[in-house]
Amino acid sequence: MCATCGCSTHDHDAPPGHHHPHDHDHDHDHGHPHAGDDAGHRLLTLERDVLARNQALAERNRGWLAGRGAFAINLMSSPGAGKTTLLERTICDVAGAVDVAVIEGDQATARDADRIRAAGARAVQVNTGTGCHLDAAMVARALSELDPRLGAVVAIENVGNLVCPALFDLGEHARIVVVSVTEGEDKPIKYPHMFRAADLLILNKVDLLPHVEFDVSRCLALAHEVNPHLRVFQVSATRGDGLDAWYDWLLTAAHGRPADMRAAS
Ligand code: MG
Ligand code: ZN
Repeated sequence: MCATCGCSTHDHDAPPGHHHPHDHDHDHDHGHPHAGDDAGHRLLTLERDVLARNQALAERNRGWLAGRGAFAINLMSSPGAGKTTLLERTICDVAGAVDVAVIEGDQATARDADRIRAAGARAVQVNTGTGCHLDAAMVARALSELDPRLGAVVAIENVGNLVCPALFDLGEHARIVVVSVTEGEDKPIKYPHMFRAADLLILNKVDLLPHVEFDVSRCLALAHEVNPHLRVFQVSATRGDGLDAWYDWLLTAAHGRPADMRAAS
């Protein structure tokens, strides 16, 4: 999968030219292809240890957030689906109703954190280097630096990647997968782990639908085939379509109150 997930260990042990698929199947219960050889056993143990340690730290993050009365969301998508733009718009539109603080995950640069600060929210950038996902330890460090206010919404923008972010609990209360209509409508069945792990699907850039070949109903049918409980919001973060429903969900989930602040703001 990736260096920080532990699969690099496996790659070192593998013979030259051995193909190791990136979206390696982590459902090992019915037998890993390499189970029985030492490298395979080391990989399984390493992955279990990494994920178990992550899970314990995620529970600690949840406790830390509960102490602040904060509600955390984990935003995941392919690169370019519009996570940062959605957050910028959300920060502006819900200002006055709730305080939003953001943890930005990218391999490099502080560009997205700069954008979030320009939108008026506090932000901490986490750079993962070669890593392709955030983990609970990174979020724990970022949370203490972020110092979110009491009752804040903490938005964690994960590294753009539909594969391993699905495996790493960060201590969030809700997982949101963002897909844009400029992508393939079959993303849900190509990356089922992500769509199974998510609570919410935000279909973004619907303003572009007249210009692209994207069958919304087919995409949603595939998403619900993978996860029948997935809630869906169809939005355009730039034009504003559908955002009221998203804000209602966010504020109700965070504090049990609807987004009636837009009229007031
Ligand atoms: Mg971004
Ligand atoms: Zn990864």
